[in-house]
Amino acid sequence: MKPVRRLISEAEIEASVIQLGRRISDEYRGKPLTVIGILTGSIMLVTDLMRRIDVPHKLGLVAASSYRGDATVAGALKVDLSELPDLAGRHVLVIDDIFDTGRTMSSIVERVKEFAPLSVKSVVLLWKKSRMEVAIGPDYFAFEIPDEFVVGYGLDLDDEYRHLPYIGVVESPVDL
Ligand code: 5GP
Ligand code: MG
Ligand code: MG
Repeated sequence: MKPVRRLISEAEIEASVIQLGRRISDEYRGKPLTVIGILTGSIMLVTDLMRRIDVPHKLGLVAASSYRGDATVAGALKVDLSELPDLAGRHVLVIDDIFDTGRTMSSIVERVKEFAPLSVKSVVLLWKKSRMEVAIGPDYFAFEIPDEFVVGYGLDLDDEYRHLPYIGVVESPVDL
């Protein structure tokens, strides 16, 4: 592991998750809610946030991965929705770690709509607003961050660094 420059502390993350949990609880009180986590990066946010949403809710998970062809082919998103519970008649909140171009969140929201939920909204911890390539941003987010590749709190670089309890930037990620 290379040194990591800290951007957002564990305490700041915890405070923001408590805030998100309060806002979500207020919005969904008395409504049938299902949260859907996008694997793998969202796992820490999902498990922390669920404990801060004090209204009953169900959990579903989807796997998303970007496939890159050769250099001339844009990365295509592969989504596995086979583990989802029934969403008909439920309000759905899709959870991811970060909203970067927004293509992952926006395509999963569109796919989820095919299951006839009552509503679909999105929540992320981090938003790289300057990189957005879709029309609609996240419904809930905790931190807007600059265009830097971040790790920790579930976010990886080559499947490393996910365990860090804070968000940071790897110093010199490429060996020169
Ligand atoms: P988008 O589809 O919004 O461009 O990208 C979303 C996905 O790309 C996230 O779920 C995450 O897996 C990955 N990603 C985007 N930016 C970062 C980043 O700064 N760090 C890490 N570790 N993953 C990122
Ligand atoms: Mg991801
Ligand atoms: Mg990743």
